[in-house]
Amino acid sequence: MKNICDWNNCSNEAEYKAPIEKDNSRKYRMLCLKHVKEFNKNWNYFEGMNDMQICEFIKADMTWHKQTQSFSSSDNFFKILWNNALNDEVNKNKFKDQNFNMRQFKFDHNDIKAFSILGLSIGIGWEKVQVKFKKLVKKFHPDMNLGNKKFEDKLKVITLAYTQLKNTYKVKIDN
Ligand SMILES: [Zn+2]
Repeated sequence: MKNICDWNNCSNEAEYKAPIEKDNSRKYRMLCLKHVKEFNKNWNYFEGMNDMQICEFIKADMTWHKQTQSFSSSDNFFKILWNNALNDEVNKNKFKDQNFNMRQFKFDHNDIKAFSILGLSIGIGWEKVQVKFKKLVKKFHPDMNLGNKKFEDKLKVITLAYTQLKNTYKVKIDN
């Protein structure tokens, strides 16, 4: 039996699992490729989570994606998220302005958590966030580690932290 995409008015076949808000009894919804990409682009995983929930997430076994393919398969949810994360959509020109400094902004606890996961100081320049992320991706990529699950989970956490910061920087820079 085929699943139909859960997106409004979409009737494509759904092959991708996307996580659902924490309070929902379902753990994930099924989406087509186009809409899982759309979903990823706007998705801020840590939004609305308190510190406890973030810790839980990091420790959790992420059961909602357990039945999906390994990280290396092209339709793995995290792989799509990861590819999205590598696409730089932050306005770099802003950083060339001498008076522009990220440190003038207030960051919330989710951002602060994300900085700490990536081992960065709070409000560091976007390019430094990217450089660090790429370095960590290289280090923890399952292809480099014989598909070791421990590294895969580590990479997921790093990707989520990076996505969190990318969304935050985008909002702060565009306003
Ligand atoms: Zn769809």
